[in-house]
Amino acid sequence: MDRNMELINTVFKEKEDQIIEICDKIWNYAEIAFQELKSSDIICQSLEKEGFRCEKEYLGLKTAFRAAYGHGRPHIGIIADYDALPNMSQKSGVCRQEKCGDNENGHGCGHCNIAGAAFGAAVALKKYLEINNKEGTVIVIGSPAEEAGSGKALLAENGAYRELDVAIYSHANMFNSVPSLPMVANVAMEFTFKGVSAHAGASPHMGRNALSAAELMGIGVNFMRENAIADARIHYAYADAGGEAANVIQNYSKVKYLIRAPKIEQVKELAERIKKIARGAALMTETEMEYVYTSGCSDYAQNKVLAQEIGKCYQEMGAPAWEAGDYSLAKEFYDSLSEESKTQAAEKLRKYYDQIEDILEKPLHSDVILFDEKGKGYNFSSCDIGDVAHIVPTVYISFASLAIGNMVHTWQCTALANTVLGHKAMLNAGKVIALFGTTLIETPEIMRRAREEHSKTYVHPYQCPLENR
Ligand SMILES: [Zn+2]
Repeated sequence: MDRNMELINTVFKEKEDQIIEICDKIWNYAEIAFQELKSSDIICQSLEKEGFRCEKEYLGLKTAFRAAYGHGRPHIGIIADYDALPNMSQKSGVCRQEKCGDNENGHGCGHCNIAGAAFGAAVALKKYLEINNKEGTVIVIGSPAEEAGSGKALLAENGAYRELDVAIYSHANMFNSVPSLPMVANVAMEFTFKGVSAHAGASPHMGRNALSAAELMGIGVNFMRENAIADARIHYAYADAGGEAANVIQNYSKVKYLIRAPKIEQVKELAERIKKIARGAALMTETEMEYVYTSGCSDYAQNKVLAQEIGKCYQEMGAPAWEAGDYSLAKEFYDSLSEESKTQAAEKLRKYYDQIEDILEKPLHSDVILFDEKGKGYNFSSCDIGDVAHIVPTVYISFASLAIGNMVHTWQCTALANTVLGHKAMLNAGKVIALFGTTLIETPEIMRRAREEHSKTYVHPYQCPLENR
C-alpha cells in the first residue's frame, strides 16, 4: 500500500471517534444560516487541540473561521460547511417522517458530514507534513450559511480564498463521485412596494395600491420570460400581500424573486431587467419600490485538472466498505420512496450501469464515478462553492451518505447523516481529500496546470453576486 495511504488510514483510525463526535454534535445542534455558533466552535476547538491556529469570526462573519497549520506553499484549502436547514428535523435512522426533539431544524443536506470530513482530512494532512517534514500549509475555511445567505460569497467579497493554491470541498449525495456537471448561478432578491392605504369603498381614489404594484411586476416578469434565455429559471413568492382585509387599499407588499441561469453574468443581466420591471410597476401604481439582494452564488464548474487528479485518489481509496447491516438500512430507505422517485433513481443509475437490478437490491453506491469532461448539461442546483471556484482552482467530490434514490434537502437525508451510512461516507471522503492533498504537495505540477486552466477560464476579476445592493 502507498505510504501516504497507510498514514491517512492510521490517522483516521485513531481519530475516528472524534470525527464522528464532531459530526453528531453538529447534527444535534442543527443550527441554521449564520446561527452556527456551537457548530463552528466545536470544529475550531478540535482543530486548535490538534495544533491549528484558529481565527474565529473570520472576516467579520460571526460563525466563519479560518484554521491553519504548517508554513510555506502550497496553501491547501479545505472548505467546511455546517449549517442546517429549517423544518428538516428528523429522528436519526428512522424511516418515516418524525421530528427529533424540539428543534425544527435538521441536517437535511448532510453538512455535518462535510464538517467531519474536512476536520479529518486537515488532521491527516497535518500529520503528513509533520512526519515528512514538508513545507506546506493546510487551511480550513469554515463557511457559514451555504443554504441561505451565501456565506462563501460574503467571505469572498471580503477577500477570503485568495491565499489558497487550491480549494477542496465535499458534499453528500447518493453517489461516490467526482461530479461532472456544472452548477448554475443564482441570486435572490426582495422587492417591497409602499403605497397609500385608503378605504376601498369610500375613497379608493385616495389610495395607491402596493399589492397592485407587486402583481403588475409579476405580470411584467412573466412576459419577460419570452425574451429570456431558455436555460433561465425565475421563481417568485409573495412574502407579504399587504393585509387580509379586501376593503382596504394595501399600502405595503413584498415579493421575493429567485433568478437562476448557467452563468452569473446572465443572472445579473436578468436581475437588471427585473429591477426595471419593478420600477415600471411602481411608476404605474404611483408607489415606491425598494429592493435588496438576500443571497446569491456564482456558477460552478470543476477545475478539470483537479477533477481528473482527485478521481485517481478516489479510485485508489474506493467506496466505503459497506456491510450487510448498511445495505439493509439503505434498503429500508429506498423502499420508502415513491414510485416516481424510484423511476428517477433507476434512470440516474442507467446513465452509469447496464445492470441496475443488483444495485437496487443493495441500494448503496459501492463504486466511484469519475469526472467526465464530456458531461453535457447542467445540474440546476446551485452552491456558493461557485464563488470559491471563481477565485481559486477548486474541486469537489460527492460521498454516498444516502441510499440510492434519496435526495438532499429531505428528511431522509437528515435521518441518515448521523447513522453508520453518514459516518462511513464522511470518513471515506475525508481520506480522499487528505490523499489528494498529499498528491498535490508531492506533485506541484498538478497545481501549475490547474492554475493555468483557471486563469484561462476566469479572465475577469471576481465580482460578488450580491453586488449592486
Ligand atoms: Zn448542501
